[in-house]
Amino acid sequence: MIDLDANATTPLDPRVLDAMKPHFLAGGNPESRHSLGRLARKAWNDAREISASILGAHPDELTFTSGGTEANNTAIFGLINRLQHPTDSEPNTVLLSTIEHPAIAEPLAHLHKIGKLKTIHLPVQNNGITSLSCWLEQLKKDRKPILATCMLANNETGAIQPIDEIASAAADLGIAFHTDAVQAVGRIDVNFHNLGVTSLAAGSHKMHGPPGIGILLIKSGTRIEPVMHGGGQQRKLRPGTPPVALAVGLSKALELWDQEKTDRILQWSRLKSQFLNHLLAELANTSINFHMNSPETPDLCLPQTLNLWFDHPLFVGEVALIQLDLAGLAVSLGSACASGSNQPSPILKAMGFHDTRAKSSIRISFSAMTSEQDVFESAKILAKTALNLINSHESSDMEILIGKARRRFSSQPHSQNQDQSDNSP
Ligand code: PLP
Repeated sequence: MIDLDANATTPLDPRVLDAMKPHFLAGGNPESRHSLGRLARKAWNDAREISASILGAHPDELTFTSGGTEANNTAIFGLINRLQHPTDSEPNTVLLSTIEHPAIAEPLAHLHKIGKLKTIHLPVQNNGITSLSCWLEQLKKDRKPILATCMLANNETGAIQPIDEIASAAADLGIAFHTDAVQAVGRIDVNFHNLGVTSLAAGSHKMHGPPGIGILLIKSGTRIEPVMHGGGQQRKLRPGTPPVALAVGLSKALELWDQEKTDRILQWSRLKSQFLNHLLAELANTSINFHMNSPETPDLCLPQTLNLWFDHPLFVGEVALIQLDLAGLAVSLGSACASGSNQPSPILKAMGFHDTRAKSSIRISFSAMTSEQDVFESAKILAKTALNLINSHESSDMEILIGKARRRFSSQPHSQNQDQSDNSP
């Protein structure tokens, strides 16, 4: 199987596994005073210092969480609970972009629904990048928002958002600003202090670290309320026995990224153009055209993400995904694909694309383990699959194929799992 679905997750780097193994086997709670505990505490503190330093933060600004979702939820609930003015007659407002991941959009939708606050969604342009002028206008409104949040890079298109500019405007107006950097960390340089944000969420499993751990950075001096209450670990913000081996794994994945980032970024850019060139060659003189949904300017897009629209009425993404899977290529459709739902990607819809385009687009994302051979073979598989799809089926057969595709998804072991229901990784 060729895995070009790194924005969903990446395999563990064997060097990360080697770094974690002794800590899984040793035991020792960092809160214990005996020598086992002290050894665990040292590993935990080292992991925090290394991770904070690579992300341009102070170790006291870093809290380990169970992943990107928890880091985002802690920032959203924790900041809002501190910033809200309960005496106000009208609910306070929070700004977010229309392309946020459910880890941000859902907690805010919940608070909006129960009347705790009012959310204002700020649009993106058709290259997937949020409109800076809209943010500046909304931030300056008479009734100031209490919080603004925008992701650093989008999971479906790779579009990189102008976070430093929005954060700087928010800071000038004294408005807290959070960014979800889960897809950006490990793909582009991310420096917390240089970005100027109040808080930042990062993950681990998108850059060959272990799943089950993430990072929340909070600027020192920021008032934030804990979401969980317990034993008081991590400055009471995230109580619970520290997962030392996972933190060591995350810090090792970050260290490897930091040491290899120049080569990884260069390799990804090379792979991206090779993939596009191979695909162009394979589809030359056919009736299938493809177009970029991702920003074409390299600086505006994650170097390892490509979102392509296959412009043919018989290219149905849902069906293509299954055929690609059978042919040995793992890619993604974007939102809601895991459940076999036929809802068009809300991200592509937010960019102003029609349903057909949003339903016939495919996300390709490379990891640090993707090779030139992978790219060469996957372009061939993709072209062949697309041609088979449009050549062998009349439109009337398409409904049957879509039905088959949905049944195949729903017979997959993972889709029986409720947490696969409607989220885009
Ligand atoms: N934010 C973004 C942009 C993501 O892409 C993801 C996961 O795909 C998350 C948050 C959630 O991260 P995690 O899976 O670590 O909870």
